[in-house]
Amino acid sequence: MSTTSRIDLAEIELPELEQVLADLGQPRFHARQIFQWIYKRGHVDFADMSDLPRDLRAQLSTECAVTTPAVERMERSIDGTTKFLLRLRDGKFIESVFIPDTPAQTFCISTQVGCAMKCAFCLTGKMGIYRNLTAGEIAGQVRVLASSLGMLDQRFNIVLMGMGEPLHNYEATMKALRILADEHGFGMSGRRMTLSTVGVLPALERLATEPLMPNLAISLHATTEDQRDLLVPINRKYGLKELLDACRRFPIKRRERITFEYVMLQDVNDSPEDARRLVRLLHGIRAKVNLLPLNEAPAIPFDRPSDDRVDRFARILSERGITVSVRKSRGRDIRAACGQLITDSARTTAPGKRLAMLMGT
Ligand code: SAH
Repeated sequence: MSTTSRIDLAEIELPELEQVLADLGQPRFHARQIFQWIYKRGHVDFADMSDLPRDLRAQLSTECAVTTPAVERMERSIDGTTKFLLRLRDGKFIESVFIPDTPAQTFCISTQVGCAMKCAFCLTGKMGIYRNLTAGEIAGQVRVLASSLGMLDQRFNIVLMGMGEPLHNYEATMKALRILADEHGFGMSGRRMTLSTVGVLPALERLATEPLMPNLAISLHATTEDQRDLLVPINRKYGLKELLDACRRFPIKRRERITFEYVMLQDVNDSPEDARRLVRLLHGIRAKVNLLPLNEAPAIPFDRPSDDRVDRFARILSERGITVSVRKSRGRDIRAACGQLITDSARTTAPGKRLAMLMGT
């Protein structure tokens, strides 16, 4: 049987795996063992699953597979940040990043190959969108990072802040989070997951109704509609005001807050007036602000403001009672920092070839 017609166990949740076993004429309880092998012990070869009956192992080997992204390259920054270039089944590449001691151990995970949002300061946006990742490819990044780094038995957080816009790939993203949350797999709670979004409103409203709730980070980046229209083009469809109204309605647990990310661009959105406007906009929202001084790149037509200017902006927020942090950029020497994820094929490929790649040829 060819791999393509096999059932891919990487793509399914535990109840679906139980059904797969029932369909194979096997007891459902083996599903938990298989889940533990895949997620807790990092084994994807059925022959290794030593507590399963021999006939089941043989049957799984012919009928099923666990597709796993392959590590094409690993680069370690001087600050310990490690960037993974992963190759997917169809030969496309994505990047995932391990960021140590922030103080938690954090995996920064991609949700799409490229991104369709075209934020004016983001390199990934320059790639355009190639395709959505599947749930198995999203959760698979966590498997690959945890096992490559010897962290399968450790606690870590995940942030959906790699390539792509998670709310533009809603079904697969949420399914991946449910797979990661399963107690027989990684058993991650929603508190250890952060979903970062530009604010695709219908999907954000839907997220508000989910039983599994990640922390929410909103990529705000501007304080007026005009400014945000230019920096985050989806604002022309779902405006700043509507986005903040949706945030006001968003169900957040006691003592929790929504994080607002604000990339700082010199002389564009970094004035004291912007800071005061930001305070007014966030009124009535349990918010904290994460300032991201721009990570510069040649293809990005903006400058990073001076530290003094960033401090002044931060002080205006904190004096008015808003918790604010300035993101220390990690892994810049290996281009692993925010907005710097872009796979080599897109970096070097000529436009004609890129079009062919987009069309899957
Ligand atoms: N699409 C989602 C997930 C990506 S998160 C989102 O936009 O929220 C990546 C974060 O890094 C976003 O807040 C993004 O706006 C920010 N970012 C992008 N380019 C950047 C750059 N050059 N410097 C600093 N931050 C950047």
